[in-house]
Amino acid sequence: MLLYRVAPEGFWAAADPADPDRLRVLYSDPYEVLPGGWEFGRELDRSTATFLLPVNPGKIVAIGRNYAEHAKELGNEVPAEPLFFLKAPSAMIGPNAPIVLPPESQRVEHEGEIAVVLRRRLRRASSEEARDAVLGVTCANDVTARDLQKKDVQFTRAKGFDTFCPLGPAIRIGADLEDLEVVTRVNGAERQRGHTRMMVFPIIDLLVYVSRMMTLEPGDVMLTGTPSGVGPLVDGDRVEVEVSGVGVLANPVEALRD
Ligand code: ZN
Repeated sequence: MLLYRVAPEGFWAAADPADPDRLRVLYSDPYEVLPGGWEFGRELDRSTATFLLPVNPGKIVAIGRNYAEHAKELGNEVPAEPLFFLKAPSAMIGPNAPIVLPPESQRVEHEGEIAVVLRRRLRRASSEEARDAVLGVTCANDVTARDLQKKDVQFTRAKGFDTFCPLGPAIRIGADLEDLEVVTRVNGAERQRGHTRMMVFPIIDLLVYVSRMMTLEPGDVMLTGTPSGVGPLVDGDRVEVEVSGVGVLANPVEALRD
């Protein structure tokens, strides 16, 4: 199923990927009830619906250098164990909201990624517990000020600017976590294409690993790394990230204007 949040009220709405135009208000709490038990309300007109950010995490964990080709393009080795960092929840924006280029950076880049959303708490989890705790997947753009990332010791500033974490448009529930593709386009031209089979560490292993260091709470989001092909975003661009069966996360890019 595809799970959306719909403006202006922020209601949950859901659609079957086999019949995506039939969008219905969801009465059930998707964090508590699995899709088989969902209760629906009225039908919504998809063509006029506005979709909001579909997640509300306490924290956003992100994985670095999880595709060998991407590690290489930035002159890095593939890490022996997963490299992870945190992105600020205040950086989140939803579909179609603008990514704002800050004057502090001369080089802001896109990083299209598969994001995982949790529905259960995970602490020192087994693989089975990790798999069972996943609500679904969505599209993410781990927008990065590359010049500041190279300048700073850690990633907080480079990856933490407001608007640097677009997510959405839907959470796909029931996706095969070992068979997902992620494609990034800028102004319609493909820039990045990756598949879960190209990951250095698979999604479940990443959840197990991260849960040893920090408890993952329901609603928390994990970005799983970006494939090769990262590149700059400039004022006026339109960037899209598409993950298998989720849909397209599209955001315009604009310079900060006072
Ligand atoms: Zn990234």
